[in-house]
Amino acid sequence: MSNVPVAVVTGSNKGIGFAIVRALCKQFPGDVYLTARDPGRGREAVAKLQEEGLHALFHQLDIDDLQSIRALRDFLKEKYGGLNVLVNNAGIAFKVHDTTPFAVQAEVTLKTNFFGTRNVCTELLPLVKPYGRVVNVSSMASSSALGGCSRELQQKFRSNTITEDELVELMTKFVEDTKKSVHEREGWPNTAYGVSKIGVTVLSRIQARMLNEKRKGDHILLNACCPGWVRTDMAGPRATKSPDEGAETPVYLALLPSDADGPHGQFVSNKTVQTW
Ligand code: NAP
Repeated sequence: MSNVPVAVVTGSNKGIGFAIVRALCKQFPGDVYLTARDPGRGREAVAKLQEEGLHALFHQLDIDDLQSIRALRDFLKEKYGGLNVLVNNAGIAFKVHDTTPFAVQAEVTLKTNFFGTRNVCTELLPLVKPYGRVVNVSSMASSSALGGCSRELQQKFRSNTITEDELVELMTKFVEDTKKSVHEREGWPNTAYGVSKIGVTVLSRIQARMLNEKRKGDHILLNACCPGWVRTDMAGPRATKSPDEGAETPVYLALLPSDADGPHGQFVSNKTVQTW
């Protein structure tokens, strides 16, 4: 088993994830795994970094596929006895003018952004070593969507006692409510992406609390963040930040020094803790 520190970035064959891998290859003292659901796209991305003189390793990972997540988990367990840095970056967004019915957009978006990310956490968080760092890439869209929720929902999503099961129930209810076209009446905002990212931010707050309760002495720091508005296939060419600039906050959180005691359980944008 290797004692080398190891970092894993989900959805990193392009966009912000790719830029996070690039930065980690330069700054992280260990093995850096670029992961992708499609091995062809993943290996191409690794080769692109190779041309820049950077050495990333590749492992397949489709966060929608539990078998794929478990294969990565078993690989990390066997080769490294765990992992040191996990960046949950993989995500999807329908384009604004996409005519796919809203209920379908809700189901598909939540499936990857919330349920997929949660499944990765369920399988990989127990493997995170002491002083490990976990970064869940959320979005400012989570804050604006929170503002569009009913007072009752806002209270639940801001609660310091909400459980992961309760959050899963709420995310499932959103999808069900869109199918019945009652989501607005039930207090939800009209954004599937925004609600999926509320899920990611709140999940991070819960996970940080659980780490405090169950693994206090392990000094693991876990946060959600927004990368900013970044020029990628998701956000388009008019966005203000380059992918490398978008990677700055996630990489800052992934490389928090071992003597740092925070941020932890926060939502961070531009390297600054935001009020949730
Ligand atoms: P992007 O260019 O579309 O890249 C998304 C990445 O996620 C791709 O590598 C994609 O792989 C991967 N992915 C999607 N579904 C996956 C799955 N089921 N399993 C594994 N990988 C999967 O988007 P981006 O702008 O870099 O976004 C990265 C993250 O930042 C997302 O979580 C996004 O919500 C968040 N974010 C972005 C912005 C922005 O302005 N760009 C703002 C706020 C937050 P494929 O190539 O196979 O599709």
